[in-house]
Amino acid sequence: MPTSALVLFSGGQDSTTCLALALSKYERVETIAFDYRQRHHVELTSRLHVLREIKAHFPQWAGKLGDDHLLDLAVLGEVSETSLTRDTAFKMEQSGLPNTFVPGRNLLFLTLAAAVAYRRDLQVLMTGVCETDFSGYPDCRDETMKAMQLALSLGMAKICLIETPLMWIDKAATWQLAHDLGHSSGALGGGEALVHLIIEHTHTCYLGDRTHRHAWGYGCGSCPACDLRARGYGRFVGLTTKQSEPG
Ligand code: ZN
Repeated sequence: MPTSALVLFSGGQDSTTCLALALSKYERVETIAFDYRQRHHVELTSRLHVLREIKAHFPQWAGKLGDDHLLDLAVLGEVSETSLTRDTAFKMEQSGLPNTFVPGRNLLFLTLAAAVAYRRDLQVLMTGVCETDFSGYPDCRDETMKAMQLALSLGMAKICLIETPLMWIDKAATWQLAHDLGHSSGALGGGEALVHLIIEHTHTCYLGDRTHRHAWGYGCGSCPACDLRARGYGRFVGLTTKQSEPG
């Protein structure tokens, strides 16, 4: 059984939930992120706040949390013409994909993460990719992940496991998962604390907006990422309210 993981940790809701899951099941956990000159560059600051808050409020996890790696991937911004790397409006392309899709992004991320995991002797790569209610990004699909797992394991002559715990759950269930993980962490008020930490400190908005505060956190409130996060939170709160009603 694997005992260590490298989490692809962008500082968003999904990757923070993955980090919590990794900390709940593995003995040694490290984190990695990439600076590809994304418009929502602020996520690279958010992730440091998330790491700090986890260490401060989840003592059972703090000791397992090891090095954080930030890799410069400016070349990805240079080769891609997308609304995440250029100052253009969000729209759907003729291909049927939104222009927030950065071709090759997750493939590069996983390859570099596998190289770091190799050097650091970490057994699992964990990523928050999701096929359920996302934008149909082909590099988030389960099949793509399985193919990458095989390619990386063959190419490095070492088993490289890719774990995708959010693949088949929607955003509401991701909020719920964070709540459950926080609850079982042993931290005081852990469920609420982890949800609160995600609301306050994670970043999802494509425009990098940290000035507008909503019930579900900071963001412009109208980009596709904000929309998804807000709707998921609404359903999560609805679910939680229903569960806590008497009878
Ligand atoms: Zn937004």
